[in-house]
Amino acid sequence: MSIDPRLLDVAACDAAIDAFERRLAELPEARALEEATAARDAAVATETELADKRGRAERDAKRFDDEGATLDSKLTNVNRKLHDGSVTNPRELAALQAEQEMLGRKKGEVEDLQLELMMLLEDLEAQLARAAEERDAAAARFDVAAAAHSVVIGEIEAELGAERDTRAGVAAGIDSALLETYDKVRRRSGIGAAALNGDICSACHMKLTAPEVTEVEAAQTGRCPSCDVILVIVT
Ligand SMILES: [Zn+2]
Repeated sequence: MSIDPRLLDVAACDAAIDAFERRLAELPEARALEEATAARDAAVATETELADKRGRAERDAKRFDDEGATLDSKLTNVNRKLHDGSVTNPRELAALQAEQEMLGRKKGEVEDLQLELMMLLEDLEAQLARAAEERDAAAARFDVAAAAHSVVIGEIEAELGAERDTRAGVAAGIDSALLETYDKVRRRSGIGAAALNGDICSACHMKLTAPEVTEVEAAQTGRCPSCDVILVIVT
């Protein structure tokens, strides 16, 4: 009894399905999309980090403004006491003058820090503007990569689906026990069935001896003695 030759059609479908699946796994569009995703995420992270820095600098600026305002009001108080004639004791006046100097020094220090912060904020604003541009550009590159990926995936999946349908149609007419053996062999070695062309196995291209050919012909599911695939005799 010879093996149903349609098993070779199933094997051809499976080879095509494997090729589509390999293509899906190794798509350059998938790698490009991965890179575009990483670049976009990095651009967003940079922008977020800069925005956080700006937030901290703004809080610091607010703190120094408050500190400056407090020093101003203390200075106003001290200046008033120094000049409104309410304090006449020389020691108290000296103490007030010392306080006035101390407050003035502190005010100067705070003003220096305010200036530094103002420059830092300007710098951060410029960096943020560049980061936002880079983020927009990275997002645009991501959109292009995602669209290209989706087109290719759609095409391959459509072909893959059609191939799977064809395989199901062919397999439906084949003896289920034979298919089970075929699937087992295929899982083990990648190929389930191949044609025996004369005395050559078309899967591994090894030549079978005459007794081996006779054995394959006699067996219900003859197998290649070299690569173990189911051999289908083609006439
Ligand atoms: Zn073989």
